[in-house]
Amino acid sequence: MIKQYSYKKDKNLKLAQNFILKEHIAGTSPLRNLYETGKYDVLLVDDYLYPKVQMIREHFGCFVIITSGYRPASYNKSVNGATSSKHIEGCAVDIQVKGIHPIIVAMYCEKIGIKGIGLYAYSNNANEGFVHIDTRAEKYYWITYSDKANYREIKTFMPELMRGDTGYTVKILQRKLAITQDGVFGQNTESILYKKYQTRIVTMKTWERMFGT
Ligand SMILES: [Zn+2]
Repeated sequence: MIKQYSYKKDKNLKLAQNFILKEHIAGTSPLRNLYETGKYDVLLVDDYLYPKVQMIREHFGCFVIITSGYRPASYNKSVNGATSSKHIEGCAVDIQVKGIHPIIVAMYCEKIGIKGIGLYAYSNNANEGFVHIDTRAEKYYWITYSDKANYREIKTFMPELMRGDTGYTVKILQRKLAITQDGVFGQNTESILYKKYQTRIVTMKTWERMFGT
């Protein structure tokens, strides 16, 4: 259920064990200041959201940073956010889990039954990129490789890959292998993969080996 709060009155309200309402207005965004100074006050939160974020925090045992939570429609427009964004309904957060690669975070989010997941896998570095989660009822997963605007639907985090496969997940694999990122899983990708990870196909386990800690 979506609930409405006043930032001024409720900002220290606990949404889950380790999260307070204030964090739903990302501290890393200029929006936080607009709330602090009273330019905005009303904010929306789906109460299904933070118990899930709490689960993620406890699973990894790491600090979770909300890089975007609620965005008022007028603010969203001014930063050219998607007009249908779940953030303006209070149903979405973008998160970074300190020291954990977003690929591994997205895999866990799928495991615990989150239906809306976007993986922004910008680099091999665990502290770049983020995972968007929202409370939609119909499953929709997407992935980006290098920029926000270009995303593709994906069936699962993360799919099996083998010779002949193409797309963003292959580019992410190639980036990890430090080879040309043409998005085509060919002979070269296969042989470098074998050299580095002693396998010719990428399974869920291989993704964990490559990006896990
Ligand atoms: Zn988002």
